[in-house]
Amino acid sequence: MITIDHEGLEERHLQARAKFKHFLETNNNRKTPERFAILEEIYLNQHHFDAEALYIKMKQNAYRVSRATIYNTLEILVECELIKAHQFGNNKTLYERSYGFEDHDHLVCITCGTIVEFDDERVHKSVQAHSEVNGFKVEYHSLNVYGKCEKCKD
Ligand SMILES: [Zn+2]
Ligand SMILES: [Zn+2]
Repeated sequence: MITIDHEGLEERHLQARAKFKHFLETNNNRKTPERFAILEEIYLNQHHFDAEALYIKMKQNAYRVSRATIYNTLEILVECELIKAHQFGNNKTLYERSYGFEDHDHLVCITCGTIVEFDDERVHKSVQAHSEVNGFKVEYHSLNVYGKCEKCKD
C-alpha cells in the first residue's frame, strides 16, 4: 500500500487548492467555500471514494452541501486534473485525488470492493516501452487487476 504522511497531504492540498482557485478564476466559475471544503475533504481524508459517500461524509462534517454541488464540483475537479475518475468494473465511478500523486495501479476485489494500490517501476517502464513502440504519448496510466482479496478468496 502506498502511504503518505499528514504533512505530505497538507502540502499537496495547498498546491491543489491554488491550482483549483486559478482554474475557477480563469473559467469564470464561482469560488464558493463549499467547493474548497470538498477539495480539502478529498485531499486530506479520502482515498478511493464515490460521490454518495463523499456527500454523506460532508454532511457528517456538518457541512451544508447539496448533492448537486458534490456532483458539479467533482466534475470540475476532474476537468482541472485534481482528481481522477475510475471505473473499477462495476457501474460505480470511484474518484481519487491525483495532484502530486504518482501514477499507480490497483488490485480490485470483485466480491467486497476492497482496493489495494501498488506502484512498481517495472510497470512504469513497460508502459513507457509499449507506448514508444506505438508512437504513443502517455498522459497517465492506471492498471486494474480484478480478482478476490485475501478475505474473499475462500
Ligand atoms: Zn474482498
Ligand atoms: Zn489509487
